[in-house]
Amino acid sequence: MRWCPNSVLHLLRSVRLRSCTRRGRTRSLYFNSLTDSDVVFDSIFEPVFWTVDYVTRWFGVVFVCLVVILTSSILVIAYVVLLPLILSTYSPAWIAWHVCYGHWNLIMIAFHYYKAAKTSPGYSPTEKNDTPFVSVCKKCIIPKPARTHHCGICNRCILKMDHHCPWLNNCVGHLNHRYFFSFCLFMTLGCVYCSISGRNLFLEAYNALERYKHLDVEKPGVPVTGMGLLIGILPPGQTPAPPYTFKDKMIHKSIIYMWVLTSTVGVALGALTIWHAVLISRGETSIERHINSKETKRMAKWGKEYKNPFNYGKLNNWKVFFGVEKKSHWVTRVLLPSGHAPHGDGLKWDVFPVKKDLIPV
Ligand SMILES: [Zn+2]
Ligand SMILES: [Zn+2]
Repeated sequence: MRWCPNSVLHLLRSVRLRSCTRRGRTRSLYFNSLTDSDVVFDSIFEPVFWTVDYVTRWFGVVFVCLVVILTSSILVIAYVVLLPLILSTYSPAWIAWHVCYGHWNLIMIAFHYYKAAKTSPGYSPTEKNDTPFVSVCKKCIIPKPARTHHCGICNRCILKMDHHCPWLNNCVGHLNHRYFFSFCLFMTLGCVYCSISGRNLFLEAYNALERYKHLDVEKPGVPVTGMGLLIGILPPGQTPAPPYTFKDKMIHKSIIYMWVLTSTVGVALGALTIWHAVLISRGETSIERHINSKETKRMAKWGKEYKNPFNYGKLNNWKVFFGVEKKSHWVTRVLLPSGHAPHGDGLKWDVFPVKKDLIPV
């Protein structure tokens, strides 16, 4: 087991530290000034962390399959059930809108999901180089550039790491952060679109199913509570056909399934997308959010104000994030599928006081 030697070694170091300090000695082969209660905590809980990491790594594949299967099921319903309905009942203008918007949204979702899952998030260099670094990774034993963090699931140092996403089975970092956010954004838009445009269909389908239930209860040849036995009205062995077909029932059920799924995902993913939009506006990642709020509190105790060095101003943060270098890029790089590289190499970062306007658009 990979974690065992590390775990035991860390624990032994900590125990050695305690016994040394008790005897009034402060120097040993194992002790150094970085050994503290965090090391003991890490050592004791390392098997737990390892198990969580292992399970998340394994579940990543299941989660990706779930995303593909659920999205495909909505697509099948849209093409098999909704499209014929739209083509036969809607006006040409509405048909054009639904066909154009639906396909654009679908392409954006598929493109960004594929890119987010398949693009490497960007790893910290393992060979000697001149990149300035801020600390050393305790797990990889390599220098960590600014904004780089170690991912326990990928077991590597990730450049500008945001989080490890089980729905992508990939880390979200410098090279795929934009794809991840765009996927969340367009998936939310797609869900909201399905939910709003399918609301009337959902109500109709729901009422129809309720009506079928009553018809099932009231149809002749079946005993009805309080009405006495109605068996015998029809000749024995002959049952009347219901006033709806199996196909009708399946169409209504699939519309209800689609509406419930897209509405639920729309709300949940919408909340996540808004939260990430707030973070991007502030120029911080999910991990930096915790670090920055800690630093803000720490500095406040000293009567000082903490400023995020990677916050270039709201609009500039978005330009840097989307790689917008001229006005047309808002369309070609944000609203259309684009595989352009992100701003910067993820190793060296411009700090706010040094360079104020990174991309003067
Ligand atoms: Zn590392
Ligand atoms: Zn990861």
